Amino acid sequence: MNHILGRRFSPAAASALERIAEEVSVCMQCGTCAGSCPTAPAMDYTPRALMRLLQAGLFDEALRSRTIWMCTTCYTCTVRCPRDIHVTDILGRLRGIAIAEGYAETAGMTFNKAFLDVVRRYGRMFEPELLIRYHLRQEPLGILGAAPIGLALFQKGKISPLPERLPAEGLAQIRRIFEAVEARQKAAPAASSHA
Ligand code: SF4
Ligand code: SF4
Repeated sequence: MNHILGRRFSPAAASALERIAEEVSVCMQCGTCAGSCPTAPAMDYTPRALMRLLQAGLFDEALRSRTIWMCTTCYTCTVRCPRDIHVTDILGRLRGIAIAEGYAETAGMTFNKAFLDVVRRYGRMFEPELLIRYHLRQEPLGILGAAPIGLALFQKGKISPLPERLPAEGLAQIRRIFEAVEARQKAAPAASSHA
């Protein structure tokens, strides 16, 4: 275990965090990423502020943040960053480290896991199951609040009551991608990106 600012990290996580710190060292805090991010209002730290935390070595704070789970991986920040920092991928790697290092499951982490479970199962999204999986793990009673919205979407034909699966060949390809990522994560748990 390595200590970084008082927190014990596994050697793999410590070295992954050191690599991230090196990558963000060129961030000039211009705020382009924060100004471009569609989910910044829902984050506790904007992408710019998160880069600053990482520059300061406040990894524990960054790994506990809601920011890493609110990212929709739209890549706008990465495309616009004048310093060519791969902000989106860095957030993905932080998600992987948070899981590998046993950080407490947040609502964002639960949603992320439920989302991936559904995609793995059908090869595409099936919103009703996503919501059920999320609420069962996070807040079972919340499903009562989500039901009227689900019903309204169903009545307008926006969601289907039954899942649509990818054809067998496509689904097999999706599952091979999941398996390849899992194999990478086993080999270097904290270094791999987590969707
Ligand atoms: S856009 Fe790039 S340089 Fe500017 S604050 Fe964000 S990460 Fe830093
Ligand atoms: S990739 Fe994530 S952090 Fe970057 S702009 Fe999109 S939502 Fe925001």
